[in-house]
Amino acid sequence: MSETSAPSDEAHENDNPDVRRLADWSGERLESLAEEHGTPLYVTDLGRVRENYRRFASAFPNADVHYAAKANTSRAVLETLESEGSSVECASAGETERAFAAGFDGERVHYTAVNPPAEDLDRAVELADENSCLTITVGAQDTIDRLAERGYDGRLCLRVNPGVGAGHHEKVRTGADAKFGVPYDRAAELLESAADDFDVVGIHAHAGSGISGDDLSNHRELVSRMGELARSIDLPLEFVDVGGGFGVPYRPDESPLDLDSVAAATHDALGDLDATLVVEPGRYLVADAGVLLTGVNTVKETPEITVLGVDAGMTTLARPALYDAYHHVRNLSSDGPEIETTIAGPICESSDTFGEHRIADPQRGNLLAIGNAGAYGYEMASQYNSRPRPAVVVVHGERSAVAHRRETLADVTAAEEEVNWR
Ligand SMILES: *Cc1c(COP(=O)(O)O)cnc(C)c1O
Repeated sequence: MSETSAPSDEAHENDNPDVRRLADWSGERLESLAEEHGTPLYVTDLGRVRENYRRFASAFPNADVHYAAKANTSRAVLETLESEGSSVECASAGETERAFAAGFDGERVHYTAVNPPAEDLDRAVELADENSCLTITVGAQDTIDRLAERGYDGRLCLRVNPGVGAGHHEKVRTGADAKFGVPYDRAAELLESAADDFDVVGIHAHAGSGISGDDLSNHRELVSRMGELARSIDLPLEFVDVGGGFGVPYRPDESPLDLDSVAAATHDALGDLDATLVVEPGRYLVADAGVLLTGVNTVKETPEITVLGVDAGMTTLARPALYDAYHHVRNLSSDGPEIETTIAGPICESSDTFGEHRIADPQRGNLLAIGNAGAYGYEMASQYNSRPRPAVVVVHGERSAVAHRRETLADVTAAEEEVNWR
């Protein structure tokens, strides 16, 4: 990548820096998008998604990169990553279907079945029949049995509970949560018995979300346990999948993840294996490619703090309410003196808050940008309080297009049937 004649290292790096901060977005551009499309509005920069993919893939040159689609399943995002050569990891039959619709072929699709409803397995088996290279990852003997009952004998990967977890909040640590994967000590035996009926191609583990510089030790432990397991079984594995969880800095003073040291730690543990390394970044590829724009409708002084009421809420961006997640906020309409505020949405729930922020001279009518909203943002939006979901606009350089139109109340009630028992 650095073979082109960049004027200097610094200029070259700036084409694809490790992180895009909220301050790096053009305020003017965002204001004009909000003017054209209204608020709340998600903006996704597909150019940044490409940059993130390229930087990630070049840090793991020998790995298969499977984008974890649940972070952002917008068709435009899936198509962008498909065209970059990414593979995809799907958490449901619905995501699997959307991946195929976006152009991924079966070889590049893994479906990870977590306590899968019957219709998910039915559909996955159908999709596998049509695309014989689809890989199904299972985390329980029950799921293996249910696949056999459906006559499936195709590509199977076993999800293992590595007994180590990583993450910024207990609700996003999956690696030590008994819900996910088969117990580590039973994995070898299960793999060997599954090999009688299926094409066993790999082992999988995912520690949770938020590998950061601080808890690389968790990652080291996970990859070393996966290496031990792969060496202990008598089956040729095509791949060892170590999951996702590559963290991004949500706070302006946090430093970006050092991908090279994560890659080196991974290589130390698994480099001697014949199997291909698979990694599943979700957040890392899309988080800093997205912002959420929201309008201030209320500025209320209280004895404790100034409350800023905005038109986005926990139904637009759930992470703060769900995980106490921090998302940085910037006032695009002012650079006046900052004051301490608490930012809250229009939903009748006390958890409907984006937390406390220092905001430049806030006034009714101002436009705020909420950072790192590209991952698990629109994806987790709901219609609670009869709030139609917001629009999503994608941009790439000077271009922009609506990727999800703003819903209307008719969308909220679309599935409702008349009962009329009054
Ligand atoms: C959610 C998930 C990922 C991606 O997690 P990120 O924190 O977004 O990187 C990867 N693999 C599996 C199995 C997942 O469930």
